[in-house]
Amino acid sequence: MYGKFQKYLQDELKAIEDAGLYKHERNICSPQGAEITLEGGKKALNFCANNYLGLSDNPRLIAAAKKAMDERGYGMSSVRFICGAQDIHRQLEKAIAKYFHTDDTILYAACFDANGGVFEPLLTAEDAIISDALNHASIIDGVRLCKAVRYRYANADMADLEEKLKEAQAQRFRIIVTDGVFSMDGNVAPMDKICELAEKYDALVMVDESHSAGVVGPTGRGVAEEFNLYGRIDIHTGTLGKSFGGAVGGFTTGRQEIIDMLRQRSRPYLFSNSLPPMICGAGIELFKMLEESDELHTKQQENVKYFREKMLAAGFDCKPTQSAILAVMLYDAPLSQKFAARMAEEGIFVTGFYYPVVPKGQARIRVQISAAHEKGHLDKAIAAFIKVGKELGVLK
Ligand SMILES: *Cc1c(COP(=O)(O)O)cnc(C)c1O
Repeated sequence: MYGKFQKYLQDELKAIEDAGLYKHERNICSPQGAEITLEGGKKALNFCANNYLGLSDNPRLIAAAKKAMDERGYGMSSVRFICGAQDIHRQLEKAIAKYFHTDDTILYAACFDANGGVFEPLLTAEDAIISDALNHASIIDGVRLCKAVRYRYANADMADLEEKLKEAQAQRFRIIVTDGVFSMDGNVAPMDKICELAEKYDALVMVDESHSAGVVGPTGRGVAEEFNLYGRIDIHTGTLGKSFGGAVGGFTTGRQEIIDMLRQRSRPYLFSNSLPPMICGAGIELFKMLEESDELHTKQQENVKYFREKMLAAGFDCKPTQSAILAVMLYDAPLSQKFAARMAEEGIFVTGFYYPVVPKGQARIRVQISAAHEKGHLDKAIAAFIKVGKELGVLK
């Protein structure tokens, strides 16, 4: 049997490769950070990790993870509701709720699971989900697993959202779902307008804070802080894999009854292993650190501002950003790939994106700026951008 199937897979893989879409992985041999070491010993500056607060190799988090492992063991060997819940799981859930000013939190193995398990337990075929067209794949998959009627509105387009809300009035309950920050442009969802429309058209609001948490808002507490919407967003989902330490883990935080219902019925929670104690120990320490000081968030914001201003002054076409993500527009797909490859040769890791990841004719380099970057790192990257930009005719 495998022979025919193997041939089919080989052909498909070749088609992916021929289309230039094959994803090759680079192996890092150092901790994640601003400077990384590759297999073979070559060093590079990393501008394509989600390590927004620079915590991936933070000594305090590493120590807290080790301590939790010493005291509570390596793994839980159980789902939460059978015998996999420790006091530190609840402590981390409470710490996340405090950070976001919500009632309670439920932990998942990943935000992919949080989004995959949020809709189906709460909504039925009588209800409606109204989703931004650029929402993350995990939201799209979560919506697919639920029988609610689906509506899609153009990215951050409030007139279109209003149309869809009108269309959805026949349904029992409606929920508007959006990413907090969209990962290709770095723009923040217009949450104030979304909440106004939700009130006007009697809808719940859910936001995925994966790229916004730790970054957006006066102290990085996400979109509710940015727009002063405390008490008006019903559900936040998020990841521990980006700003919050970069290891693994996801969560849904929000209204008490919603969290209670998810604990009863959310399938990725009920039928998947508990987070290991070290993740909880480090997570608790992380939220303590973020309570104590805003230093990392401030540095991250200053770094983005510095980088963007220097890039604009050099003549690059950068999208306005309100996050840690900066899109340097090149428009041409092959150019974006060539540019990223030349940057890598210069020792700078950035990512070139083109259709279908971004709209046709909107190819770009995406730069992700971290609190781990020092001025010297930023200056090196900017110098490489200018050198490659001139070489490839992007700059005059
Ligand atoms: C990264 C990301 C996720 C997935 O998070 P994991 O915890 O890695 O599964 C979900 N939603 C959005 C918007 C993301 O950016």
